[in-house]
Amino acid sequence: MSKISHFKPKVKLSGNEKYYYVQNVVKQNQLHTICESGKCPNKSECWGRGTATFMILGEICTRSCKFCAVKHGKPQLPNREEIEALANTIKLMQLKHAVITSVTRDDLPDGGADFWYQTIKRIKEVNSAITIETLIPDFKGNIASLDRVIEAHPDIISHNVETVEALSRTIRVQADYRRSLDVLRHIAASGMKTKSGIMIGLGETLEQIKQTMSDIKDTGCTILTIGQYLQPSIENAIVAQYHQPEYFAELRIIGLEVGFSIVESAAEVRSSYRAEQHI
Ligand code: SF4
Repeated sequence: MSKISHFKPKVKLSGNEKYYYVQNVVKQNQLHTICESGKCPNKSECWGRGTATFMILGEICTRSCKFCAVKHGKPQLPNREEIEALANTIKLMQLKHAVITSVTRDDLPDGGADFWYQTIKRIKEVNSAITIETLIPDFKGNIASLDRVIEAHPDIISHNVETVEALSRTIRVQADYRRSLDVLRHIAASGMKTKSGIMIGLGETLEQIKQTMSDIKDTGCTILTIGQYLQPSIENAIVAQYHQPEYFAELRIIGLEVGFSIVESAAEVRSSYRAEQHI
């Protein structure tokens, strides 16, 4: 990995300029983002606001969820230089709130938990006032791995349930709906602010969505995001329905009635969308 790029803007950048600034800094520091790897529809808006969701532990996932555009296959060994590059890039971007996610590394004994710990610690060392949200994989439900991330004290830990139980086996092939609920329950029980997210438009019913909301709330999770699934490529699951804004508004009300303190519900919502507002 090349030397950290130290280009720092002298003037107030416009949205467009911020977008290209983020693009340059990410590229020059050879970092990955879920914005790019996941083909996120909000990339131009978020980068235009000078923020991004960084993806650690490489860009190849050991799983192949049917909704996800991230490359899957045999990943390379974790690159420890990524930790320093990320901590310095966040400082360079003058981020007040950083969202970090990762591919799932079922190939590593701890699922990459220690790499997560070192990353969070180093970001906090280099960026003393920063708040951090970590969107973590399920670590196959490994409690020691979950505790390693909790030990690093990010400000919010999120883990996405992604879809309703009935669709989970087909959409999240290597994941498990009940295991994801157990992961959320363990995080919430540690006192951490806990967040989860689902996508709709994969063929689920309103009753199934309501049941999923209750299941997630029962874990102690307090923040929920609900967005419209969009097909990133023809290899991915097809969209069963495009839902109207009224439907998202109705789901937000149901979510607040179920007891979530924050419910972000709109077609463009993704788990890290406007995440700084959840702190
Ligand atoms: S675990 Fe699934 S959603 Fe996450 S990066 Fe891998 S394929 Fe995508």
